[in-house]
Amino acid sequence: MTTRSDPEWPVSGPTTLQRIVDAIGARRRFVVSSHSRPDGDSIGSCVSMALALRALGKEARVVHKDRAPAPLLGLPGVSGIEIADRAGDDFEAGIIMECGELARTGVAGLEGRFLINIDHHPGNAGFGQINWFDSSAAACGEMVFDLIRALDVPLSVEIATHIYLAVLTDTGSFHYSSISPRTFDICRLTLEAGVDPVEVAHTVYNSNNIGRLRLFGCVLNAMRTDHSGRIAILHLDHEMAREAGGTYDDTEGLINEPLTVKEIQAVVFFKQIEGDEYRVSMRSKGDVDIGAVARELGGGGHKNAAGCTVTGPIDALQQTLVKKMEDAVEGQESGRAAHRR
Ligand code: 5GP
Ligand code: MN
Repeated sequence: MTTRSDPEWPVSGPTTLQRIVDAIGARRRFVVSSHSRPDGDSIGSCVSMALALRALGKEARVVHKDRAPAPLLGLPGVSGIEIADRAGDDFEAGIIMECGELARTGVAGLEGRFLINIDHHPGNAGFGQINWFDSSAAACGEMVFDLIRALDVPLSVEIATHIYLAVLTDTGSFHYSSISPRTFDICRLTLEAGVDPVEVAHTVYNSNNIGRLRLFGCVLNAMRTDHSGRIAILHLDHEMAREAGGTYDDTEGLINEPLTVKEIQAVVFFKQIEGDEYRVSMRSKGDVDIGAVARELGGGGHKNAAGCTVTGPIDALQQTLVKKMEDAVEGQESGRAAHRR
C-alpha cells in the first residue's frame, strides 16, 4: 500500500505509516485525543482509532477536553469518550489527531509522553515522536482509515461509521475542494462494511433543537456584505444568543449558509468570547485561500475553512478581516484570468 506525504512538511515520508504500526505493536495502553471543541472529524478519527486498538486487544481511552456537539451524541461510539482536562498516568502512548499544537488538546499530562501525531492541516508543529502529516487528506479520518488497514484490523461497521462521519463532516457534506477519488474509495468501503449513510446524515444534520434554528435566523438576519457583495460578515454576541434561545454550540454549520448565495465567495463569522475578544471562523469557495488569512492572524486551517482568535474593537477587526479576504478573492480572480490568457 502507498502512503501519501507532503514533501514540504517535516519528518514525513513513505516509512511513517510503518513506524506508527510498529510503535502501536510494541505498546498496550493508549490515550487518543484531539483538539478542544471537537468536530466530526476529531470525534470520528479518535473513536475509530480507539475501536481499532481495542480490536487488537489493546486498551484505548479517548480523552477530549470538551463534549461532542449534541447531534453527534447519537453516534454509537461517542458515549465512551471521556471528558477531562487531564490524560491520567496509565498509558504508554498518546495518539493525537488533527491538532496543530499539543496545547490545543486542552488535555494536560500528554506532554513528555510518547506521542503519535496525525494531522491533515498545514502548519502542524510536529510535537510527536512520530509525526504523520498529509495535507491531501480530506479528513484526518482518511489517514486513520489508512492506518487501520495497515494494522490489519477488519473494518467493523462501528469503525466504518466513525470514519464515514469524519469524511462527511470534514468535507462539508462533500462540498470542499479537498475531496479526491480516494475520499469516495474510502466511503465506498465504509458502505460495504455496513454504514448506512442516510442514518448518519440524519443523526448529524436532522437532530437539532429549535433554539438553534432561531439563532440561525437571528444571525443571518443581521448579516452584512462588503461593498462588492462577495464577502459575507456574520456576528454573534452573548445577548443575541440569549434572545434567540440558543447557545454558541448551536452555531455549528451556520457559517456555511451564506455560501449558498451564488455571488458570495467567502464568509467571516465573529463570535464574541468576552469583551473585545472574538473567535473568528472563515469559509470560502474554490481557490479563495482564507487559510493564509487565518495564519497571518495567528490562527490556521485549510484553504476553504480556517479560523483564529482576535482582540480589538469589532469595527476595526471587521475592516481588517474583510480587507484581507477581499485580497484573497481578488488573488483568486487574477489567478483565473491569468489561466485563461
Ligand atoms: P472552525 O471555523 O470550524 O473553528 O475552524 C475551521 C478550521 O480551521 C478547522 O480545520 C480548524 O482546525 C482550523 N482552525 C480554526 N481555528 C484555528 C486556530 O486558532 N488555530 C489553528 N491552527 N487552526 C484553527
Ligand atoms: Mn479535520
